Amino acid sequence: MSSKRKITVAYGDGIGPEIMKATLSILEAAGAEIETDVIEIGEQVYLKGITSGIEPRAWDSLRETKVFLKSPITTPQGGGFKSLNVTTRKTLGLYANVRPCKAYSPYIRTHFPKTDLVIIRENEEDLYAGIEHRQTDEVYQCLKLITRPGSEKIVRYAFEYAKKYNRKKVTCMTKDNIMKLADGLFHKVFDEVAKEYPDIQADHKIIDIGTALIADRPEMFDVIVTLNLYGDIISDVAAQVTGSVGLGGSSNVGEDVAMFEAIHGSAPDIAGMDIANPSGLLNGAIMMLVHIGQPEVAEKISNAWMKTMEDGLHTADIYQEGISQKKVGTQEFAQAVIDRL
Ligand code: NAD
Repeated sequence: MSSKRKITVAYGDGIGPEIMKATLSILEAAGAEIETDVIEIGEQVYLKGITSGIEPRAWDSLRETKVFLKSPITTPQGGGFKSLNVTTRKTLGLYANVRPCKAYSPYIRTHFPKTDLVIIRENEEDLYAGIEHRQTDEVYQCLKLITRPGSEKIVRYAFEYAKKYNRKKVTCMTKDNIMKLADGLFHKVFDEVAKEYPDIQADHKIIDIGTALIADRPEMFDVIVTLNLYGDIISDVAAQVTGSVGLGGSSNVGEDVAMFEAIHGSAPDIAGMDIANPSGLLNGAIMMLVHIGQPEVAEKISNAWMKTMEDGLHTADIYQEGISQKKVGTQEFAQAVIDRL
């Protein structure tokens, strides 16, 4: 029997196939013990008339492998089919979305070189729970769902994460000055759970000033735990502040299955041009390797990736005259990482 760990892989839409090819070539060259089961998701599946955007056999693959490395997909905006990302997270019970945002200064431009924060976002509830309907042609309603069990699960996950990775502070962000019941419950649960972790500092910020502070003083944050919609927005802000949305990887963790991806979308504006930065997906894949018990391979890739950054081989999104040495394409970047393994 093969000692390789089977994982489910989806190449996705837009820049998805290019960054997945680059990422898998690095994993293979680094000696990752994985075997891929490729499934189809996104536009190609919608075209076949499957409105979920995911081929039926994909669920069997995911339930068998329990690990999903996924490229971004294009979601129709303001109409069309329900977001496959939301469906996947809810169907597989991926309740925690973990998004580390770290500055890699001086190799990547950022005004905040000491930034090293992790956003832990509730992933199943809130305004993304899918409870949205038409009342009249002129009135539409989207309901915000916040539950005590859901809030407890994510807040406890955030404190356990802080404990495991030796982080000192967890900041909760809500808008409970306005949504006193729904956001108020999340804040209340946070205060209760925080008491179980006396060694970890706990504080709370209203989401609007919290977002402003991430944009202006990101170094003051360590772990942030927040609701689904706020977490989605602030993680793009935090990733951009550290250099580019093209850099961040994320994990979506459930009791049984975990999914790893880049935080950015399918970037249709640059698809097929071999200029996309594969680092976001690669950083997601590095988190996956730790999750499946191959931390040595993860570290080897992470070091080679850092060295590539240090050597100034940068894709167009982070290229800067005077700091970068050479502007490279997606596959050339992957080869540069491979050369430094
Ligand atoms: P986006 O993240 O795809 O792109 C925003 C900007 O960042 C674009 O200018 C793009 O060129 C740039 N960019 C993104 N990733 C990059 C990379 N790796 N390298 C270089 N530049 C990069 O956001 P969008 O344009 O708002 O969304 C496009 C599509 O992606 C939409 O259909 C959206 O719903 C979908 N989306 C999917 C996911 C996912 O699958 N997890 C997440 C977010 C958005």
